[in-house]
Amino acid sequence: MTIILDGKLCANKIIENLRTQTVKLDKKPNLVVIQVGNNPASKIYVKNKQKKAEYIGYNSYIIELPSSVSEDNILEQIYMLNDNPEVNAILVQLPLPENINQQKITEAIDPIKDVDCFTSYNFGWLALGYNPYVLPCTPKGILRLLDEYSIVLEGKNIIVIGRSNIVGKPLSLLLQQRNATVTMAHSRTENLKDISSLMDIVISAIGMPHFITSQYIKDGAIVIDVGINRTEEGLKGDVKFDEVKDKTSYITPVPGGVGPMTIAMLMENTMQLYNIQKNLIL
Ligand code: NAD
Repeated sequence: MTIILDGKLCANKIIENLRTQTVKLDKKPNLVVIQVGNNPASKIYVKNKQKKAEYIGYNSYIIELPSSVSEDNILEQIYMLNDNPEVNAILVQLPLPENINQQKITEAIDPIKDVDCFTSYNFGWLALGYNPYVLPCTPKGILRLLDEYSIVLEGKNIIVIGRSNIVGKPLSLLLQQRNATVTMAHSRTENLKDISSLMDIVISAIGMPHFITSQYIKDGAIVIDVGINRTEEGLKGDVKFDEVKDKTSYITPVPGGVGPMTIAMLMENTMQLYNIQKNLIL
């Protein structure tokens, strides 16, 4: 029997819990999202994040900048947010327009306000197995969802497909810290199907609709689909869900799997940074 890993349900529990905590606070946590340019998908993500933040009771602001904005102007905005004691959490929505140096921008965020673990300070701590201020939202959300269903990671053979700095790379490190044996695959991996079909858990974060077919999956495997691909037929994951589902023991749907967990973790990280900063002031 296949169990659907219900990210929406799990995320809603987290959101309700944060809402209850926030009602009791005199001063509300404050999240600022910087969005540069007109990427339509980014705009939807940012709006959804703000809606959720407002529902919880946070103060939430979007700084919208045109794609023609200079790097210096973005940096100025970040320095102002870093210095503003009212701001607890800063997120720069990626991707940035091609003419903007992403490294320069994300590195400018004060690590104590770095809500998605973008800075080398926080990522470095994560890589070394220490505690960064917060963990990156999507990998943290995937681990939380697996934990919610009591899925044991220790000793499991896990393939993470996709090595981006925000999903695949940190996720592979966190899984190793949970004592899984991790294979990190990417666009130059040879014989991906052969390797993937041996794995206990397959996690796909590549951004290609329905790329993962049943040939990539062994019987009884667990499948986590991170992909969000906007196609003419609507939102599709990386995994060909209908074909793969019956072969798996657990699988995430798209939508309703990893996506809501990412937003819930962004909200949880905002609260976590708020609490860290409050304790420093006391
Ligand atoms: P990215 O777009 O930066 O990189 C894609 C990765 O996939 C690269 O490492 C590349 O090597 C690998 N790849 C590409 N083609 C491949 C192939 N044929 N075989 C094996 N590997 C291949 O990655 P990203 O920003 O992590 O995004 C990946 C997907 O996840 C996108 O669809 C994105 O929208 C989605 N995403 C979803 C969430 C969520 O909350 N659900 C969060 C972040 C990203």
